[in-house]
Amino acid sequence: MKILVAVKRVLDANVKVRVKADGSGMELANAKMAMNPFCEIAVEQAVRMKEAGQAEEIIAVSIGPQACQEQLRTALALGCDRGILVTADDEVAPLQVAKMLRELVEREGAGLVILGKQSIDSDNNQVGQMLAALGGMGQGTFACRAELADDRILVTREIDGGEQTVSLELPAVITTDLRLNEPRYASLPNIMKAKRKPIEQLTPADLNVDTDSNLKTLRILPPAERAAGILVESVEDLVGKLRNEARVI
Ligand code: AMP
Repeated sequence: MKILVAVKRVLDANVKVRVKADGSGMELANAKMAMNPFCEIAVEQAVRMKEAGQAEEIIAVSIGPQACQEQLRTALALGCDRGILVTADDEVAPLQVAKMLRELVEREGAGLVILGKQSIDSDNNQVGQMLAALGGMGQGTFACRAELADDRILVTREIDGGEQTVSLELPAVITTDLRLNEPRYASLPNIMKAKRKPIEQLTPADLNVDTDSNLKTLRILPPAERAAGILVESVEDLVGKLRNEARVI
């Protein structure tokens, strides 16, 4: 079985987000970028399945500018076999990403697609679900466990107040939640080896996808500034402040 893993380049989760003065987006100039954390979990899941003899090949796919090669190289260093970069200079909307992935699933004959449950930059939580619908595949979203059972995959999902296990026919789509696994770090020898692994470059047109989108971001605003909190010495102190300063009791 071939596994396709979608990896997105996003602002590093440890970087403080700054919004552009004109509200048109995030300030990305000179900012540290990284693989979306949920995509790291997706890569780890695919690598574990390959190590368990359940997959022959893992293909990492990224859609975006040339710089996405960095995240593809990271995926290759973590154990993916080859990469595909679909080049696009502007932000690609979730539906267009899903259409490109659907085309790649077909071309590659992938048996499983693993994606993050959401991108931490745009917070869409859409691509996996759209891909499953477009490709007529079953979906196991918010996965915290995934086990292959013959020609099906059992995916346990994190849902409100508990877990739900679904049995999906292959090919299927999984989106990863935090508890699925703990991603490994790439070792230095594997980082060196990854430099020799192939990355194929395609354009959206090669995949018959038009990147014109009916989705337009109008404005991005930072959250309102909040006053710093304080530590109170005792319960009496807290009650006093709630009564006399905040006047809420
Ligand atoms: P989203 O629906 O945008 O929150 O993204 C969910 C998941 O879809 C991400 O964690 C990635 O696995 C995948 N994805 C979204 N955008 C891209 C992209 N430009 N390139 C590769 N994968 C993507």
